[in-house]
Amino acid sequence: MSRVYLDNNATTPVLPEVLEAMRPYFGDHFGNASSIHHHGQETRAAVECARESVAALVGCRASELVFTSGGTEADNLAIFGLARPGDHVITSTVEHHAVLNACKHLASKGCDVTYISVDGRGRLDPADVRRAIRPHTKLITIMLANNETGVVEPAAEIGKIAAQADIYFHTDAVQAAGKIPIDVNQIECDLLTISGHKLHGPQGVGALYVRKGTQIEPMLYGGSHERSRRAGTENVPGIVGLGKAAELARAGLERGDDLKMATERDRLERELLEIEATGLNGEGAPRLPNTTNIYFDGIEGEALVIALDLKGLAVSTGAACSSGAIEPSHVLTAMGLRPDRAKASIRFSLGKQNTPEDVDFALGLIPETVARLRELSPVWAGAGVVSRKLAT
Ligand SMILES: *Cc1c(COP(=O)(O)O)cnc(C)c1O
Repeated sequence: MSRVYLDNNATTPVLPEVLEAMRPYFGDHFGNASSIHHHGQETRAAVECARESVAALVGCRASELVFTSGGTEADNLAIFGLARPGDHVITSTVEHHAVLNACKHLASKGCDVTYISVDGRGRLDPADVRRAIRPHTKLITIMLANNETGVVEPAAEIGKIAAQADIYFHTDAVQAAGKIPIDVNQIECDLLTISGHKLHGPQGVGALYVRKGTQIEPMLYGGSHERSRRAGTENVPGIVGLGKAAELARAGLERGDDLKMATERDRLERELLEIEATGLNGEGAPRLPNTTNIYFDGIEGEALVIALDLKGLAVSTGAACSSGAIEPSHVLTAMGLRPDRAKASIRFSLGKQNTPEDVDFALGLIPETVARLRELSPVWAGAGVVSRKLAT
């Protein structure tokens, strides 16, 4: 059976060049990057070369990057590295769970946390961030782009507000990295998270940008790796893979790969919205070029994901971690979607490997599958009926 993967916001396939770059570091180049002999120097050089590539992708100095085990650890390191009991932290209602649950934990340890809400398009208002600032506000953590909807938040405006108020600003740029240009100085952030596997690098590696002069408390204690900001022998193959992925992502952005991707995403979106009783989540907001999130009234999103998977198309209901749960997405409900509509929403996310034929494949399957599920649906009796019944 042919299979098409349109769930690249959950994870992306490792590009062949990335795999090739990593391969020697599973073999002959096995040294501990802290060893002073030849083997250590070899892997140390590779780690530092990867650091330069990642720095170039986000516009920082190599020395300002800390390699971690992924986006989750980088988000946690930013948050727990700065916030202390008694501090106030500002975040948003649409963050990834790596940020939301870290903030929840902070609250249980005596921090005050303010959650800024978003409008119907999924955008937050920087003025709300400004108004939320209190004398003891230590950190603002707000994502650059949302993993479920692709909506891009006004990070640079928030960065300006944070800088004026002399408050640390962290942004989770895991989904934005490689899809839109990123410059830490333009955003004016002090900390920024990226993850290898969301940009065609390997799983289990990420990086946190920490602006020069920003003191963060480590989460792991041990050796003096990563300038004593993250103890533990470096994941050399992973770091090399992340470096290669960052280099390819930057070259892709310079070539305009993002525009090509947006063309295919737009075609997919346009044709899916032709299906009756559908709508776009995040309509009218600036969005990543690869993501579209659409509701199909009268169906269960999970049922559609499973039905499409049986035919070889991989898509998602949104946050990968919430799959299996029946809870509607916290992102979509924060945008004001009715629970049934949030549960009827599907995320389609493209990657570098996708072709126009992949979009054709998806378009060949989805309309008939939606129609069949609606025939079986107890709440579906035609678009007009369902909207009358559910809108009241
Ligand atoms: C995937 C993701 C993370 C977590 O990254 P991991 O490397 O999987 O731990 C954090 N934030 C966002 C926005 C993500 O999409």
